Amino acid sequence: MTPREVLALCRQKEVQAVDLRFMDFPGTQKHFTIPVNALTEESFADGLTFDGSSIRGWQSINESDMLVLPQAETAMVDPFMKSTLAMTCNIQDPITRSDYNRDPRNVARKAEAYMASTGIADTALFGMQPEFFIFDDVRFDQNVHEGYYHIDSIEGEWNRGRFSDSKNSGQQIRRREGYFPMPPADTLQDLRTEIMLTAQECGIGIAGQHHEVATGGQCEVDLEHVPLLQAADNLLRFKYIVKNVAAKHGKVATFMPKPLWNDNGSGLHMSLSFWKNNETLFAGSGYGSMSELAMNAVGGILKHAPALLAFCCPTTNSYKRTVPGFDAPVNLTYSFRNRSAAIRIPVHTSSSSTKRFEFRCPDPSCNPYLASAAVTMAALDGIQNKIAPGMPLDKDVYDLPSEELTAYAKVPDSLEKSLQALREDHSFLLRGDVFTEDVIDTWIWYKTTYEVQAIRERPHPWEFALYFDS
Ligand code: GLN
Ligand code: MG
Ligand code: MG
Repeated sequence: MTPREVLALCRQKEVQAVDLRFMDFPGTQKHFTIPVNALTEESFADGLTFDGSSIRGWQSINESDMLVLPQAETAMVDPFMKSTLAMTCNIQDPITRSDYNRDPRNVARKAEAYMASTGIADTALFGMQPEFFIFDDVRFDQNVHEGYYHIDSIEGEWNRGRFSDSKNSGQQIRRREGYFPMPPADTLQDLRTEIMLTAQECGIGIAGQHHEVATGGQCEVDLEHVPLLQAADNLLRFKYIVKNVAAKHGKVATFMPKPLWNDNGSGLHMSLSFWKNNETLFAGSGYGSMSELAMNAVGGILKHAPALLAFCCPTTNSYKRTVPGFDAPVNLTYSFRNRSAAIRIPVHTSSSSTKRFEFRCPDPSCNPYLASAAVTMAALDGIQNKIAPGMPLDKDVYDLPSEELTAYAKVPDSLEKSLQALREDHSFLLRGDVFTEDVIDTWIWYKTTYEVQAIRERPHPWEFALYFDS
């Protein structure tokens, strides 16, 4: 869509308001709205000003004016706002008119440009698989509350309590048995379908939806494979749709990686393939029918995984998901049939053109622009330096004897360690000026100050259970 077409769409759909959106540095969507008559063809080139100092991780107050530049190709009539057309924006400095280096979308755009400049590939396709929970909108959900504070495990409650009551044992999803239940046990079927159809209306291709493994309320909707920047744009829009459909039904959605202790957490598996001249570069005759180039991409991602996790698993809560026993990756390995490895090469790919691998570490608390750009840079580094990925692991890594397991590197077990890994290993991200030193430094500073330290300094609810009666 061109700016002129956007204006025509506004007239055709009787749009009255134009909503301008972008993502802040940590990865939350922001917006402001103008009346439709304030949007002209010039607005697309000249941009509109806003105060960048009030956005987390951005400008200091003395240089606060920033510009948003609406991107015509992202225009959509918003399904939740009154007579509103929404667009995703790029961010510029109003004086120099250069793209702002801390705009996450700019980082993703530069990653695409850098990839093309290497001559290795012209397109990185990402298939994002967000998992999330939908809870009843009780701000302090009783089940979560009890499971969290009580010393008894959910297992204990299960055996003794509400779940074993014979009058109330049918049509309930048992702990970690939420994969593919039929309604009425699956109470969220229609809600997920509404999410799926709304996403399609908003231009997001959907492969399918299902209930996920966790006890109740965990969902997954798989987004179709699209180029890096579009995949991140779509994810931003998708989360907005999920939260608003849930709200419409009096429910609340969360993408936090591990809302429930002792049950599965939510991942954002990223299925990845590189293409050149409309041909996949990943199909071949090696392991799992992958090409050598694909295996080098795997090698690059596994090598840089500890640093990548600073962007892919970027919250303190992320590391409560990546523990053994909950289908989340804990070992930095790859496998073609094993879902417990950090990288899985799916078996059922009908044709070589759909050959891809799945990086399972990322979770949906990430900023998808930064995470997918970082993953692409690591894969490119693997290809450029012919990094071998080592031996595959075709066993269940949760069941391996510990002697065997020590041969495999582990994912960092805290945000602090991932940030430290990023501090030590980020030159692969600086190529092509994709991530600047300023972006890396600001990220580490922001995450350390506002998240790692903030959590460390606060009394943890479980500390009350353990220590209150000391
Ligand atoms: N929820 C799991 C994770 O955290 C994945 C489960 C699955 O898709 N099989 O990654
Ligand atoms: Mg999946
Ligand atoms: Mg899943």
